[in-house]
Amino acid sequence: MHPNEAVSNLLRQPRTIVITTHQRPDGDAMGSSLALFHLLSALGHNCSVITPTVFPAYFLWMPGISRVIVYPQNPHQAELLTRQASLFFCVDFNQLYRNGELGKLIAQSSAPKVLIDHHLQPEDAFTYLFWDARASSSSEMVYRFIQALNFQHLIDHNVATCLYAGLLTDTDRFRIPTTTPAVHRMAADLLERGADHVKAYSRLFENFSRRRMDLFRFALFHRFLMPENLPVGIIYLEPDDLTRFAVQPGDTEGLVNYPLLIEDITVSALITPEGTGAKLSLRSKGDFSVEKICREHFGGGGHFNAAGANSPLPVRQTVEQLIAIFAALEIPHYTS
Ligand code: 5GP
Ligand code: MN
Repeated sequence: MHPNEAVSNLLRQPRTIVITTHQRPDGDAMGSSLALFHLLSALGHNCSVITPTVFPAYFLWMPGISRVIVYPQNPHQAELLTRQASLFFCVDFNQLYRNGELGKLIAQSSAPKVLIDHHLQPEDAFTYLFWDARASSSSEMVYRFIQALNFQHLIDHNVATCLYAGLLTDTDRFRIPTTTPAVHRMAADLLERGADHVKAYSRLFENFSRRRMDLFRFALFHRFLMPENLPVGIIYLEPDDLTRFAVQPGDTEGLVNYPLLIEDITVSALITPEGTGAKLSLRSKGDFSVEKICREHFGGGGHFNAAGANSPLPVRQTVEQLIAIFAALEIPHYTS
């Protein structure tokens, strides 16, 4: 049976549905999850959005966000709902480890799992796949899912605003190559259906506290490396920097993009402390895959031009390892 028909059939009777997404959720993770939450609730289902870790405070404006359950803050409720769920929607990730401890519980459930995603290399853990690695965002995939199941009439201003927020985040404001004519048509449709695009832009991109701006100023001045003869820029933060600037979840979002402002730089990396190791966040311009680097050297993944991974080594050593990897690769200088 085609997944459209199978999922359509599953949605014919009221269900307890859990919608979940990846750790350190971003605007696309939250936007696509919340859009589904509004849509499936309107269809009469008992829906919950559970995030595996906290989300940044600058998402608190999003319609429906007050209903989101943060697993570590509410483990009993999250576990109960996960046990009761007769259907899962896994959004904006495609490997259960990206869902943390919650992913382990979901793996144990026999309820069908619908994947709606756009990352490379999906794991074989899902029942029905709405997946296209060429799609701009999971929000675009949710939009296509809505169209495939003929639920367009349910795209109200809340659904539209959530999807628009995801689209704006993952295209980096309609900048990156995934911004197709279909993406602009989708954005136009969402605006016609009442998406608050001015609010979405402002809350997602003009949300700095002075403290966060101090962190960026410091990082750009003191923690920005440009290894000689390589078209790469690396920004890193030491554990002490996190304390000094009281870094909150989401505070480093966007920092990785700065090295790419230099015309001939092809790859940028942000390395931050995580546990006893480090988190890597990589971006590239043009025909150079950072997903391959993250997957092959660090067991991570993501997209061709935007990927991430964890390293067991502390920040400084991870930086050195990454420079050695870059040096061995003969990365071309970027030209548009
Ligand atoms: P970011 O650098 O913004 O954290 O992530 C960039 C992209 O890579 C996102 O699509 C994100 O979901 C993905 N990503 C980030 N970290 C990891 C990771 O540790 N493993 C995998 N498979 N993907 C990641
Ligand atoms: Mn995404």
